[in-house]
Amino acid sequence: MSSAQSSFSIHGIGVSSGIAIGQAHLVSNALLEVVHYQLPPHLIKDEVTRFDDAILTVKKDLEVIRSSLSKNVPAELSAFINTHLMMLADKSLSEVPKDIIRKEHCNAEWAIKQQMDDIVEQFEAIEDEYLRERQHDVVQVVERVIKVLLGHPRQAPVKQQESAIILVAHDISPADAIQFKQHHFAAFITDVGGATSHTAILARSLNIPSIVALQRARDLINDGELIIVDGSLGVVIVNPSKEILAEYELRQNQWVLEQQKLKRIKSTKAVTMDGTAIDLYANIEGPEDVDAVKASGATGIGLYRTEFLFMNKREMPDEEEQFQAYKQVAEAMHGLPVTIRTLDLGADKQMNPDSVSDCANPALGLRAVRLCLSEPQIFHTQLRALLRASHYGNIKILVPMLSSLGELRQTKLLLERAKLSLRKQNVPFDENIALGGMIEVPAAAINADAFAKELDFLSIGTNDLIQYTLAIDRTDDAVAHLYNPLHPSVLKLISITIKAGAKLGKSVAVCGEMAGDAKLTKLLIGMGLRQFSMHPSNVLSVKQQVLHSQIAKLSSNARKILSHTDLEKIEPLVAKFNLH
Ligand code: PEP
Ligand code: MG
Repeated sequence: MSSAQSSFSIHGIGVSSGIAIGQAHLVSNALLEVVHYQLPPHLIKDEVTRFDDAILTVKKDLEVIRSSLSKNVPAELSAFINTHLMMLADKSLSEVPKDIIRKEHCNAEWAIKQQMDDIVEQFEAIEDEYLRERQHDVVQVVERVIKVLLGHPRQAPVKQQESAIILVAHDISPADAIQFKQHHFAAFITDVGGATSHTAILARSLNIPSIVALQRARDLINDGELIIVDGSLGVVIVNPSKEILAEYELRQNQWVLEQQKLKRIKSTKAVTMDGTAIDLYANIEGPEDVDAVKASGATGIGLYRTEFLFMNKREMPDEEEQFQAYKQVAEAMHGLPVTIRTLDLGADKQMNPDSVSDCANPALGLRAVRLCLSEPQIFHTQLRALLRASHYGNIKILVPMLSSLGELRQTKLLLERAKLSLRKQNVPFDENIALGGMIEVPAAAINADAFAKELDFLSIGTNDLIQYTLAIDRTDDAVAHLYNPLHPSVLKLISITIKAGAKLGKSVAVCGEMAGDAKLTKLLIGMGLRQFSMHPSNVLSVKQQVLHSQIAKLSSNARKILSHTDLEKIEPLVAKFNLH
């Protein structure tokens, strides 16, 4: 934190971009208000009833919120509410505190807080980051119960105001966020939360600037103070000076104008100034994302990460469940390409806590296609589901993490086996279904021409390609500053892959985060890339770059960049070329 008189800034993790300027609205933290008091024996029964009533009230509140959800709110919102309802119904929250009241003769708020602390401690011991973060859900549910016990108003006490309001909270529960949404807050910032916390997921889907992990924002900021939230930089400026405020007002106006302008090119074809068409596709995690794909103007799905269908489940989804999910997406896209990636479990994407790998280097372990080949039954089920769904749309199969041709050939044999089993049963499928491979291991990039020969298309997974080329764990904060897509070795591997595809007339896409970074669009086009697949929210800003591209010029720029072996020279050159 840096401070200058009353103006100061706080740094956290920006989880949703954009700029908001407005008045701080501090969300009360009921947990801090809980005190401990003893009750005489004759009041214990009443205290237990008071507790039961509070649980019931919260249950009703959550149900009302759930049923008032409109169709166009993100699907994860109702999933979060369900999670909270389940937690509330669990004995550990609805029964154990009553035992504590009876045994310790303490007040209900204190009893449930004690129980919450115990549960949180157990969550703390979980290694899996995603599951560990679910402790925030427990805290959020308990906070609701405590608010009721303390007689706090349960709806966010929001006055209609002229100026924008920015929520400042220790943490924000999904249920609160839904109410906040109805009040059109400009941004929200929290003390806690990581990149995979529910708060972060929600912020992204609500499309408002947001910063988490600010640590002491709620302590340092006063109600009603003027604050600036820069979601892209992860910075909050409290009581900005006139000059800073003026600068940010300008930037905010520019941001809003840019977003509006971008919407105008939604139906414009993504074609360069010299007439080359560029495919702009979207990445999805499940059928619920298809609406966002359509709203983005993307003309296909370049990466459907199917592992999300398998995560947080005790049982593998069976063939029918998978078939329905793939078919739903294929049909919804009405013949546009839908590239479905086979299971990429392992490394940071584990199915459930029991399956957490105990190998020392999970990113180098039995993940993705390696896992599928070692569990042929799981692979067979998925391949059958994919083939069956191919009858209902334009499905392509994409295999992750290939590193040797042997893996590809085994995959092809299994695909043939799955086709044979369907033929025998007279189940229709696309006999000519395209098979592509992810190029995300340096070994595959170096050998890209051999893969291109045996595949119908290639898709470069730059997220992993960078991780494996630079030996930098993509999930480790400590080395995040070294993770650089412009590293000359990374660019060389991308270039080798694009050229290998071009030589053999096979399409090559980039589906890692690089594809959605508009600052890299011109460089990638200059390197020969003609297909990009990205988060739907990036499609329009990338399209804008495409519309301002001239292939001849960009090709010569890219050649210059690729001739450099020094990252420090490459970075300014890319910035300079973006101006042309
Ligand atoms: C990648 O590695 O770039 C990629 C797209 O796959 P994932 O991020 O799912 O590993
Ligand atoms: Mg990958």
